[in-house]
Amino acid sequence: MTIDEQYEQLEQTVRAYNPSADFDQIRSAYEFAKKSHEGQKRKDGSDYITHPLAVAQIVAEELRLDSESISAALLHDVIEDTEATHEQLSKLFSSTVADLVEGVSKLTRIQYATKEDEQMENLRKMLIAMSKDIRVILIKISDRLHNMRTMEYQSPQKQKQKSLETMEIYAPISHRLGMQRIKWELEDLSLKYLDPVGFQEIVSKLGAKQAEYDEFMNRTQAQINQRLSELEIHHKVYGRMKHPYSIYRKMFNQNKSLDEIFDLFAFRVVVDTVGDCYNVLGVIHDLYKPILGRFKDYIGTPKPNGYQSLHTTVMGNDGIPFEVQIRTQEMHEIAEYGVAAHWKYKQNGQGAGTEGKYEWVRRLLENQEGADAEEYIRSLKIDMFADEVFVFTPNGDVQNLTAGATPIDFAYSVHSAVGNHMVGAKVNGRIVTFDYTLKNGDIVEIITSKAAKGPSRDWMKVAKSSEARSKIRQWFKKEKKEENIANGRAAFEAELKHCGVPMKDVLDQENLPGLLKRVSYGSLDELYASIGYGGFTAQKAVNRMQGELQRIAKQHQMDKAAVVPVEGTPDVVRPVVPKRVKSEQGIIVEGLDNCLVKFSKCCTPVPGDEIIGFITRGYGVSVHRADCPNAAPERRKIPGQEGRWIKVSWGSDTNESYPTSLEVVCKDRSNLLLDISAALSTTNTFVVGIQFHSTQDQFGMFHLEINVRGSQHLREVMNKLNQISGVLKVTRPAG
Ligand code: MN
Repeated sequence: MTIDEQYEQLEQTVRAYNPSADFDQIRSAYEFAKKSHEGQKRKDGSDYITHPLAVAQIVAEELRLDSESISAALLHDVIEDTEATHEQLSKLFSSTVADLVEGVSKLTRIQYATKEDEQMENLRKMLIAMSKDIRVILIKISDRLHNMRTMEYQSPQKQKQKSLETMEIYAPISHRLGMQRIKWELEDLSLKYLDPVGFQEIVSKLGAKQAEYDEFMNRTQAQINQRLSELEIHHKVYGRMKHPYSIYRKMFNQNKSLDEIFDLFAFRVVVDTVGDCYNVLGVIHDLYKPILGRFKDYIGTPKPNGYQSLHTTVMGNDGIPFEVQIRTQEMHEIAEYGVAAHWKYKQNGQGAGTEGKYEWVRRLLENQEGADAEEYIRSLKIDMFADEVFVFTPNGDVQNLTAGATPIDFAYSVHSAVGNHMVGAKVNGRIVTFDYTLKNGDIVEIITSKAAKGPSRDWMKVAKSSEARSKIRQWFKKEKKEENIANGRAAFEAELKHCGVPMKDVLDQENLPGLLKRVSYGSLDELYASIGYGGFTAQKAVNRMQGELQRIAKQHQMDKAAVVPVEGTPDVVRPVVPKRVKSEQGIIVEGLDNCLVKFSKCCTPVPGDEIIGFITRGYGVSVHRADCPNAAPERRKIPGQEGRWIKVSWGSDTNESYPTSLEVVCKDRSNLLLDISAALSTTNTFVVGIQFHSTQDQFGMFHLEINVRGSQHLREVMNKLNQISGVLKVTRPAG
């Protein structure tokens, strides 16, 4: 056949199912491709254009696709192998044709390496996801089919490699798309190169008996036909032989010889009603001897995917066993088209099934039957993997990530150590930012360094996958243990205040083990660390300790009443005031060692503040800021009390966190609280509480209770808050 004859045949094939196809476009696509590939030869010596022509023929014959698909099939190699560009194709034909050709070229460029099963599944998904338009993958499969049909001229190495790819990628995709015939052919062609000996054995054995088999098939089919007609059961009978690869797999899996395979032949009887299915079964078992244990009723008990049929294996009259499948027309369509047929029947209000996700498959199949093909197929978009993205590692592994994933997600999906040591990322060889959104087929490379500081808390917001976020959280839990303990401790102590239990009582060896038992932690540090990284909350801890704490509080009050001799009324009923622990709080009290120190609640001093102490009755020294109204110079002179003011100073061993509060006066606007939280978080400030009081004139005041390291940290926080638009004034409350 000459090239032009080959083209004429293509036009005829298209005309037969789509008389209104755009033959002008198809012809000019053919002519453009012929010119572009001019001088190029295939491995067998023929002109290159014979290949695109053959691919277009498959696209038309097997898939009955629209004009643009036929044109794109003719042009499918011009971007990859000639000077032609997307722009050019777009101008000459249409942007759709250009997109289709480019889509096919992209798939052609993907390099496969054989991997374990999970990797292959990811590759298949990536291919489908990359196709975006279903027609791209259909043209690509047709391309592969023709290449497999003409594989004999390739080197043995290439034959093996392509066959493996076909077996692992393209045959399963064809199956998924409901293209059984193409799938079988791809499998058989692949087997031919992957196991030439095994393949030849099957083919030659089948070949040797071909006449015998054909005769057997015809005779059996006629027998069944005749009997069913006599009984006036409306039916159709089909006979088929298993294809070589399916026989091969059975022999291999079940370790059987060809003769031992029962269902080399299968007949299918399609009838009108479920009742007839069982009638036919009776007839078959009457005609032939059933083989025990081979009957399966998938009508009574359908397969999980909805498949229904009666299966039985019987012994033919001349000793050849064969399988018979009996089903109704509806069951038949479901078996052939899977979920797509389900959908169709659900529309008619008969069956049930999964739609939505597979709707495009349904439309694809409808399109193959219907007349107004083009309209449908144009709207086909692949959204099957819309929530996933598939990218390559530098060595060709496919990582399957959440759609919208960033290099951070990728790094943590490789290994948490990769994420924790990441200092940069490259996509397709170029440096990108950490919030870059990965696309299908991207090759992603993570740059790591031993000296990396580890993840930043901002990464938690950038990462799209819960896996990455939880790994980042893990890192903070482990690496920032000190910080977590300090934060957790501050939160716990703040919460404890409400219960009126002093820290020193919690630390008491008589109380501590019981309290820890309530929260199931081995030590206070463990509890603090857990609160600090967010695995547990101070509120919960205190809640669980409630009963125990109440007992301790009562005990504490009784002790105090007994020990402290006060002039005037004993203050047993006075509510227990929050207290802070001793001098390891970082306070040096002049002339006194080891005395109880608490920070006054009115002005909440922090390290770095100028401070002064006041000796209370029974509560040790209360520390005020020097500028606190309650410690104002005139108050220090109140007769009878002068002697109780005492000089205090900060030691060198201050704690890592001190509770204090801030008042932020602002003009209320949306997202103000968000900005305030952001300022607190960027300054690493632990927030104990935030309250907002609004006033009528759209102004308001935030009262922040926070833990800080000292006055420098506090100043930093105040500066940050002051920079927020809408914030008018930030002050430390006192007095
Ligand atoms: Mn090609």
